[in-house]
Amino acid sequence: MKVLVVGNGGREHALAWKLLQSPKVQQVTCIPGNGGTASLEHCQNLPLNVEDFEGIGRFALVNGMGLVVIGPEAPLAAGMTDYLRHQHLTVFGPTRLGAQIEASKAWAKALMQEAKIPTAHAAVFTEKEAAQAYVQAQGAPIVVKADGLAAGKGVTVATTVAEAQAAIAASFDGQFGKAGERVVIEEYLTGQEISVLALTDGITIRPLLPAQDHKRIGNGDTGPNTGGMGAYAPAPIATPALMRRIQTEILEPAIAALQARKIDYCGVLYAGLIITPEGDPKVIEFNCRFGDPETQVILPLLDTPLDELLLACAQKRLAEFPPLTWKPGVAACVVMASEGYPDAFRKGDRLTGIEDAETQGAMVFHAGTQTKQKALVSDGGRVLGVTTVGETFDAALDQAYAAVNSIHFEGAYYRQDIGDRVRTAKSA
Ligand code: ATP
Repeated sequence: MKVLVVGNGGREHALAWKLLQSPKVQQVTCIPGNGGTASLEHCQNLPLNVEDFEGIGRFALVNGMGLVVIGPEAPLAAGMTDYLRHQHLTVFGPTRLGAQIEASKAWAKALMQEAKIPTAHAAVFTEKEAAQAYVQAQGAPIVVKADGLAAGKGVTVATTVAEAQAAIAASFDGQFGKAGERVVIEEYLTGQEISVLALTDGITIRPLLPAQDHKRIGNGDTGPNTGGMGAYAPAPIATPALMRRIQTEILEPAIAALQARKIDYCGVLYAGLIITPEGDPKVIEFNCRFGDPETQVILPLLDTPLDELLLACAQKRLAEFPPLTWKPGVAACVVMASEGYPDAFRKGDRLTGIEDAETQGAMVFHAGTQTKQKALVSDGGRVLGVTTVGETFDAALDQAYAAVNSIHFEGAYYRQDIGDRVRTAKSA
């Protein structure tokens, strides 16, 4: 089978890499892909714009793609699945209506309230004055969220009322364009965050291994939020008992509520959760796609052929699909970013040492690279996700950091405390 992967991040590199491990996958095409996907054997990049549904559809039909996997949220929210399905292509990823679960926080909140899914109390506003009056009455800490997609920048966890008021004003004054015309104001929750990515065909739900990522740029979870600076799986906090609760209290009611809205949801239902100090899982957000960098630590542990699993979702056969199998051990990923990220960052710096890191056993997933005149150069805020699998977290993390130390580019930045929480040596 030939598979088309849409996207250009570390997540898509990991998807392409995993798909190519299946004996049934002959070739993967990435649109547009990156320097990492370009270097995979049996993988090619196609420089089409992800907004070019027509061009992508034509390519997939003419070249006999057996499966299209859509990575990022933006094309899903824009209806790429709807368009490609209409062309009779087999697609993994929800339709435009399903993608609202990520693309509108107000919509997702209403769905959660209707389905009685545990989440932070919230109110939705379309006017600045009403939102500010609400915050004044509630006090801080409080969380202000632009309703729509804002590339991870639309959320302010405000520690003071003044900070919340400023975030509300900025959103209504157009900081996030249309995405900020509606604002969700949410109760502040405390606890550890985990990501539970589940695969679904709209009826059956199969959770993948739980992961934890590090969203802030700085060591000790300080500084602004990023796309994610590192991750590990399986997250020890997500015990089997907790995973059962997440299945019955969160994932199943969410799918039932989607069905009730006549939404045929096929793809990843990603629940971003906080585990409260009482031990209860509460939803912070739903995403409609694989997480990045969580995918880079989940897929190396998956034993089940990924193509067969995604195809079973796309063809509504997940109920008959055998139980997922996992390799033993744990996985860790350390993200290397460009100087300046998550603000304006440098680009175009030459990367060296990746082969050394791979020789040491690391999987180096490219997030923002491209090949220029045969040299690999940085081309994004997050540049690489250096991933390793080990018997223990200490082993996996030590190996990941050793591999990171073999890789060089001007201004490379990475957090030094990825996984500290799960290291036995440091938590003792
Ligand atoms: P991303 O695109 O990075 O997934 P997002 O912009 O969709 O993020 P959220 O995931 O809703 O936004 O929030 C980003 C981060 O803000 C969360 O990971 C969490 O750390 C914090 N946060 C969000 N909501 C709350 C809340 N109610 N209480 C405490 N912290 C919160």
